[in-house]
Amino acid sequence: MKFVVDFMCGRLARWMRILGYDTLYMRDTDRGKLIEVARKEGRIIITRDTHLPGTPGVKVFLLSSEFIREQLKEIRKNFPPAEMLTRCSLCNTPLEKVPKEKAKGNVPEYTYLTHDEFYYCPVCKKFYWEGTHCEFMREFLREVDSA
Ligand SMILES: [Zn+2]
Repeated sequence: MKFVVDFMCGRLARWMRILGYDTLYMRDTDRGKLIEVARKEGRIIITRDTHLPGTPGVKVFLLSSEFIREQLKEIRKNFPPAEMLTRCSLCNTPLEKVPKEKAKGNVPEYTYLTHDEFYYCPVCKKFYWEGTHCEFMREFLREVDSA
């Protein structure tokens, strides 16, 4: 399942990637381009734009909330879960699991010493690990799932 998030929901796109969803973010405000990308790549459009549902040839998921927390709940309730730490939150590239030694000098010393699993985005050259946003996210998901 793949998604494209419209220009108004940039924060949501980042959080969806942290959750592991394959999510493109359309910076362009042109509705036509958004539809074209969704059609071409078979992506579900995530939007608050009430003009979009009903567009032929694309699936549209209309968010009802303008708040990030509520939006994430809507996603979580309507789509199957993905796996955390599998996508770069900045560019959506699938992360590569790297040996611990590769992270040495590239992540804070404390992080290196206290973690064993590291992931890497070959595009952004950014390292990822089970850091604060994962803990925050797990906590959040527990809350959402028990509601
Ligand atoms: Zn990246």
